[in-house]
Amino acid sequence: MFDTLSDRLSGVFEKLRGRGALTEKDVSEALREVRVALLEADVALPVARDFVGKVKERAIGQEVLRSVTPGQQVVKIVHDVLVDTLGGGDNAHELDLTKAPPSAILMVGLQGSGKTTTSAKLAKRLKEKDRKRVLMASLDTRRPAAMEQLKVLGEQADVPTLPIVPGQSAVQIAGRAMEAARLGGHDIVILDTAGRLSIDEELMAEVKQIHTKTSPVETLLVLDSLTGQDAVQTAERFKARVPVSGVVLTRLDGDGRGGAALSMRSVTGAPIKFAGVGEKLDALDVFDPERMAGRILG
Ligand code: GDP
Repeated sequence: MFDTLSDRLSGVFEKLRGRGALTEKDVSEALREVRVALLEADVALPVARDFVGKVKERAIGQEVLRSVTPGQQVVKIVHDVLVDTLGGGDNAHELDLTKAPPSAILMVGLQGSGKTTTSAKLAKRLKEKDRKRVLMASLDTRRPAAMEQLKVLGEQADVPTLPIVPGQSAVQIAGRAMEAARLGGHDIVILDTAGRLSIDEELMAEVKQIHTKTSPVETLLVLDSLTGQDAVQTAERFKARVPVSGVVLTRLDGDGRGGAALSMRSVTGAPIKFAGVGEKLDALDVFDPERMAGRILG
């Protein structure tokens, strides 16, 4: 992924790199091309605008034109602004697991975003890397297949799932999951909420109720990076109604244009915490802005 953006930017930088002197016009032209490259990569317009503004500001501040290697300096500044835009330096990429157990982690997102798979990936990670005792529960009362899917993934991850009791509401199941975790000595309860094809008020009201009931330490919004601007809009709409603490971007192994990742931090105000990089249960990385910026710049 990010190939398009990467190619475009390296094309721009090729012209700048290695040149002894740059005029202000050279830099302005390069920045215009950076902006076009960002827009083509599906970065939201205000984010692209802001991005170029920041690069310009820093380039002026650092007196790029008078430096010995101005081209390289511009590339370095673009790199730094990329890291900032992706959420670098806020140390917010790890989960908050300091609260007394059991802690709930609420997984929210649209159907097909990868929410159930990500729940299982996260459960596996918390169990194996953080040595946590994890319980998972599906709250998707309208889709028995989704409940069954979480159970199967739980078996693969060797993480227990709450037994399915037909006829209970999502909030009731959430309450039962927390109680089962208390009794069973689990540290973390991952609650896989219902997904819909689009955001509706009923879904939002339900998520809010579950949030109130369980006071989650994390509310993770799962978004499909391949859906580009749609993912950004979904993020905006969820964020307006639910206190999202972090984003998980899935399908970063695919060939999406990458703009969603760049837009996410400024649109939601929440950090991207994890990246889904494949279908297997091990394919979940802690999101690393430095690495992502490096990938974008190639
Ligand atoms: P949900 O409806 O949001 O719960 O979505 P699912 O968890 O059922 O995922 C939908 C499909 O996307 C499944 O086939 C998953 O294996 C796949 N998937 C989820 N995350 C990733 C990812 O990071 N990369 C890839 N390549 N596929 C993924």
